[in-house]
Amino acid sequence: PQYKYIEEQSNSHFYGDKKNCSPCMKPRFVVTYLPFTLFPSPVPKAALLQALAVQTHFNTLVDKISQDPDFLGEALDRTIQADDFTAKLFGIYKTVQQEGRTQSIVMGLIRSDYMVDQREDGTPSLRQIEINTIAAGGFGVSDQLPVVHRHMLKSVGLLEESKRIQDQSRTREMTAALAKAWELYGQQRQQLCLFLSRNIPVIRRKFDDVSRKGSLDGDKRLFIDGVEVAVVYYRYGYMPDNYTEQSWDARLLMERSLAVKCPDISTHLAGTKKIQQVLAKPGVLEKFFPEQPEVMEQIRATFAGLYTLDMGPEGDQTVAKALTSPEKFVLKPQREGGGNNYFGEDIVQVLQAVKGDKRRAAYILMDRIQPRTEQNILLRKDLPLKLTSVCCEIGVLGAYVRHGGEMVLNEVTGHILRTKSIKNNDAGIIGGVTVFDNPLII
Ligand code: ADP
Ligand code: MG
Repeated sequence: PQYKYIEEQSNSHFYGDKKNCSPCMKPRFVVTYLPFTLFPSPVPKAALLQALAVQTHFNTLVDKISQDPDFLGEALDRTIQADDFTAKLFGIYKTVQQEGRTQSIVMGLIRSDYMVDQREDGTPSLRQIEINTIAAGGFGVSDQLPVVHRHMLKSVGLLEESKRIQDQSRTREMTAALAKAWELYGQQRQQLCLFLSRNIPVIRRKFDDVSRKGSLDGDKRLFIDGVEVAVVYYRYGYMPDNYTEQSWDARLLMERSLAVKCPDISTHLAGTKKIQQVLAKPGVLEKFFPEQPEVMEQIRATFAGLYTLDMGPEGDQTVAKALTSPEKFVLKPQREGGGNNYFGEDIVQVLQAVKGDKRRAAYILMDRIQPRTEQNILLRKDLPLKLTSVCCEIGVLGAYVRHGGEMVLNEVTGHILRTKSIKNNDAGIIGGVTVFDNPLII
């Protein structure tokens, strides 16, 4: 569907294989097409509508968490003792907190992921996999896919079905939120946005460039190459490998600055798996929505079982449960980007190694979802071209901008669908397993 699919990787902006070119042995890049399904996959209408309907509440929830130092501190206390990456993020958060926040404009471009759990009685139920608060992607690159899928359905005579594949304006709406933040910042021509478009001057930089050329003035305004930055949009920085010591300094510089960050450090932390687990504990959501029990119920209805591994009797119970029936669970560290979770016997191995000490608090345990299985053909370089049993993950996009105490924009901006073979437990577009898809509403 697209001539080339551009994704950020550690040292390139191209999707594709990095192979060493003989005889010079310099890396070269193979540009390939966006991986996608040949046909759209069926998705139950009720599940999709439920996921879309709850999104603005998740936007609000993430934003509320990001403003709650007591909650963040308490929820992540054991995790940061066990996980170095989360500890480093938290260190930046503490520094910024102590200095006092300078910027009252806050924004989020987030994606809440779900699978449809096929229960034993046959009824489907929507279950959240995770929320992504940094570098949430998948829109943009897949915007042309509805055209392809309509064409495919028509070409096999499924005219009525083809009409059920809808275009979405998700990229326009996501950029609208960035533009809103830029406007609120000052609306001056000479101010720019680090990465992104729409008649707003944009620059794209690496952490390294920021650490060499970025600076703050006396009012903490962020300058790069002599130009003031209004909005910083992180498309990077969500996993340990993305950072060198200098990058951590650059991240701190940007976080301390007056620029609007998408996301700021507290919103980034709000997206950790540990926070997701703490939110599922009884009484926690109530705290964030004291006056809105119906909103709270709507959010809670999407939660799967989530269990703490902090030291203590509750964590001990979690360990016992996981060791008895590992096939029923997923073990998750505080990582993003796919390929980090443990399933089945691997859970036993990891837990046997860490169960006796506080290292286990780096993980959470989650009920394993048994998604509906469909048949489709995955088109991806190097995958065999054959009918495959697949399962899908819905991603609902949300955008919000808050100015001081007021939410000036809070929207559900569309959805994406990603599909993988049921033989793969974990997913990942970059990891080479998952492909883009469109829901065929049933
Ligand atoms: P990441 O931040 O690395 O994307 P996720 O929590 O989204 O971590 O998990 C990665 C993948 O693992 C998901 O896309 C999904 O395929 C699989 N997965 C995660 N949680 C579950 C679960 N509870 N049940 C079944 N599969 C899961
Ligand atoms: Mg994920």
